Amino acid sequence: METPLTQHIVAGRQPLSLKEYEQVGGYQSVRKVLKQMTPAEVTELVKASNLKGRGGAGFGTGMKWSFVPMDVPGPKYLVANADEMEPGTFKDRVLLEGNPHQLIEGMIVASYAIQANISYVFLRWAYKLAAHEVTKAIQEAYDAGYLGKNIMGTGFNLEMHLHTGVGRYMCGEETALLNALEGKRANPRAKPPFPQVSGLYGRPTIVNNVETLCCLPHIVNKGAEWFKGLSKTEDAGTKLYGVSGKVKRPGTWELPMGVTVRELLEEYAGGMKDGLQFRGLLPGGASTDFLVEEHLDVKMDYASVTKAGSRMGTGTMIILDDKTCPVGFVLNLQHFFAQESCGFCTPCREGLPWVEKVLRAMERGEGRPEDMNILDFHTQFLGPGNTFCALAPGAMEPLQSALKYFRADFERHITEKKCPWR
Ligand code: NAD
Repeated sequence: METPLTQHIVAGRQPLSLKEYEQVGGYQSVRKVLKQMTPAEVTELVKASNLKGRGGAGFGTGMKWSFVPMDVPGPKYLVANADEMEPGTFKDRVLLEGNPHQLIEGMIVASYAIQANISYVFLRWAYKLAAHEVTKAIQEAYDAGYLGKNIMGTGFNLEMHLHTGVGRYMCGEETALLNALEGKRANPRAKPPFPQVSGLYGRPTIVNNVETLCCLPHIVNKGAEWFKGLSKTEDAGTKLYGVSGKVKRPGTWELPMGVTVRELLEEYAGGMKDGLQFRGLLPGGASTDFLVEEHLDVKMDYASVTKAGSRMGTGTMIILDDKTCPVGFVLNLQHFFAQESCGFCTPCREGLPWVEKVLRAMERGEGRPEDMNILDFHTQFLGPGNTFCALAPGAMEPLQSALKYFRADFERHITEKKCPWR
């Protein structure tokens, strides 16, 4: 089984230095694109590879790049979204801490494709080790001439800067991230216009996730067909999947796209801890719908998980067991989302704390029969199209599916006037 993105990452060991990275083929893709390919050819290659964005939405990467107007004079920007803050998600951290040169290489490829001369790594504030490793690697890349002016004598220039956020979930939303980079409050912007057309300082900008960017050197070196062949399904490549919760071996693994939920849970995570039963899981971080027993053989790819009624999101599953109260579980998530709402649009700012308050009352044994209607109402009221960005609709996904699969547990809180798990 090929694991191109993590093959040189060893837990607990320093990442490869530039020299070591070059010895295993590092920066070959930069040489290839800069010397042998036009920007349009790079975009076509990435389109042909069927690489989909690994940040959670799964939007076609080559397609996204193709929206950048190439004939407009003036600066363009490339931003690596390393603001990984989705609950239960710790995959980009592995790539950032484990092989930062791979990310830089991917960023050079992407920048060349869209002809951006300035690039940023927007990093989650809490990722201190990653900040250290990325800073060191950027400097090494400058010293070796992979960054800066006239890279490899080709006339292509690229600056790269590390920007650390201040630890708000909102900064991972691409337009809020761009506001933060500009030094403004991290509110989302209206889309359209999408950043590809009007992004940082109003200029064409591509924001790509870390894992997405790390796929690029391998696609350039080995081709689109090879990348597609790594997968078990129509969605190409490998994927960094994760499992957290009360399983025997929580962790992150690079596996062929399309492994099943069951394989991840039982084979890689070792199954539930002794004495615990599986009840459900969120397949891709907190802002996805629950999957349950009947979905264990669903393939973890974008289309299959969507067909099962959820979203693959970041591909990092959070497991719910039978000794954990589902209401308490969802309350914990709603507390996070209410706290992380930027407060810019009214439904999200007012609705999420209300949902949190209702769930907290249920957990205290003070839930009322009408609270079920209030929760149901919010899953619609805060759903897609009613808020400015995806934060509140994402927050409603675990709630609406918990109300579907674990409704009796919510109702027991009200009828028994206590949390049955306490
Ligand atoms: P989105 O679907 O609106 O956009 C995804 C990407 O595709 C963006 O770059 C956007 O510019 C582009 N895009 C979408 N439609 C387009 C169009 N019509 N024309 C041009 N470009 C288009 O999703 P989003 O709001 O950016 O992100 C939501 C996702 O983020 C969720 O799936 C969630 O799981 C994930 N997420 C991840 C993290 C993390 O830590 N990795 C944190 C929060 C949310």
